[in-house]
Amino acid sequence: MTWGPLLRLKEVLGPEAELMVVGGAVRDELLGRPHADWDLATRLLPQTVMERARGAGLRVIPTGLRHGTVTVLLEDRPVEVTTFRSDGAYLDGRRPESVRLGVALAEDLSRRDFTINAMALPVGGGDLVDPFGGRADLAAGTIRAVGDPLQRFAEDGLRPLRACRFAAQLGFAVEAATLAAIPLRHAVARKVAVERVFVELDKLLRGREPHRGLALLADSGLLDLWLAELRPMIGCGQNRHHRYDVWSHTLAVVREVPADSGLRWAALLHDAGKPGTRSTGPDGEVHFYGHEARSLDLAEGLLERLKTSLGLRKEVAALIRHHGTHPTEAWSDAACRRFLGRLAEDGLPLDRWAAFRLADQRGKGLDLEDRLGEHRGLVTRLEALAAAAPPLAVRDLALDGAALMKLTGRRGGPWLGELQRQLLVAVMDDPGLNGPEALAEVARKLMLAQEGEGEEGDPR
Ligand code: ATP
Ligand code: MG
Repeated sequence: MTWGPLLRLKEVLGPEAELMVVGGAVRDELLGRPHADWDLATRLLPQTVMERARGAGLRVIPTGLRHGTVTVLLEDRPVEVTTFRSDGAYLDGRRPESVRLGVALAEDLSRRDFTINAMALPVGGGDLVDPFGGRADLAAGTIRAVGDPLQRFAEDGLRPLRACRFAAQLGFAVEAATLAAIPLRHAVARKVAVERVFVELDKLLRGREPHRGLALLADSGLLDLWLAELRPMIGCGQNRHHRYDVWSHTLAVVREVPADSGLRWAALLHDAGKPGTRSTGPDGEVHFYGHEARSLDLAEGLLERLKTSLGLRKEVAALIRHHGTHPTEAWSDAACRRFLGRLAEDGLPLDRWAAFRLADQRGKGLDLEDRLGEHRGLVTRLEALAAAAPPLAVRDLALDGAALMKLTGRRGGPWLGELQRQLLVAVMDDPGLNGPEALAEVARKLMLAQEGEGEEGDPR
């Protein structure tokens, strides 16, 4: 949405409204960065905003009257309009006990977290209102608390995490005093609801410099509040396949994968099981046997604790489960198809697996050209095999359960699932067998073999 509809709202509310764009929208406008929503602020009380907007035929939703917020629909887009307000005392480290509406703009800006988030831009033109030097901090790439960081982080324990999140999203540094205050306010940060924590961690991970945000979490100790399982990765040395320790490799992979939640969380967690499975062989080589399964356990526990969606948990699990599979040129087509079948079983699209594997390879920091060449060749081959739509699951078999029962003259039972599994193995080896007649032939042979085995094993 452009400024046009905002001008209309300004007209509707009248000049004494002092209608301002505030917060994140100002920051992003000045950076030329796209932003999802406009946050507006006004001197008018919410009731007056509602009356005037409705009077002009606009749709209004009383979203949070107690906090001074109403939502106005401008060209079908919801825009929040909040009355200038100041926050009362923070007693629980999470939310102010009360808010006071109708204060001056400067006071409203002073309750905001960071200088880059504490500016206002008058709708319809006028000078930027910037009492804390936010514009200079934007230019310098600095996250700085408004006022005394120790006090601000004592009020609301989420702010330290937001500092790391903005650093990751914008590629900024956290100013020294602001950074130094974080470890002193862990006790407050600990009280924050886990749902709010997840929202910030997720934004951090999807940022343009997620490794920066993660390094800040580690250095400030916030990592130990919410992602304690990851600490042992720091300094955990690897083997000749890697240039970096587990943590540095992890940061590299997080940065290399495309910026969406599934891939970024999987990148963060895919090697979390390495420290706990590290062993040294007789030749001095370091191994991580079974680390995928250990990473999976840790990831599931951690994501559950953060109350993430089931969809995210499933995708992360699938990516972790298959990240250790390294198909090579030596693999037969049948082996490749079995692998495609395992991905399909986990609902993991080939291109997601390939994007993850590519990032994992890049994150090793060694023999890049060779590895990338091999990777490309392999993905092309897997794509070609997948494009032929080979049977990958029991439901793809040319004969279904009913047809197999009819063919064998037997009623359903465990034998049927076993037969279907064996048929699937056969058609993955040779997809040409997946026609009704050829498959019936294979089924008959398998049944004969099964009966033969049964007789041999029968003591009578
Ligand atoms: P995003 O682009 O993620 O929406 P944002 O800066 O707009 O970033 P919001 O959570 O939408 O963040 O908050 C809007 C504004 O409200 C912020 O820019 C900031 O001025 C203020 N704000 C939000 N959360 C806090 C907080 N915990 N403490 C103080 N001020 C806050
Ligand atoms: Mg916002």
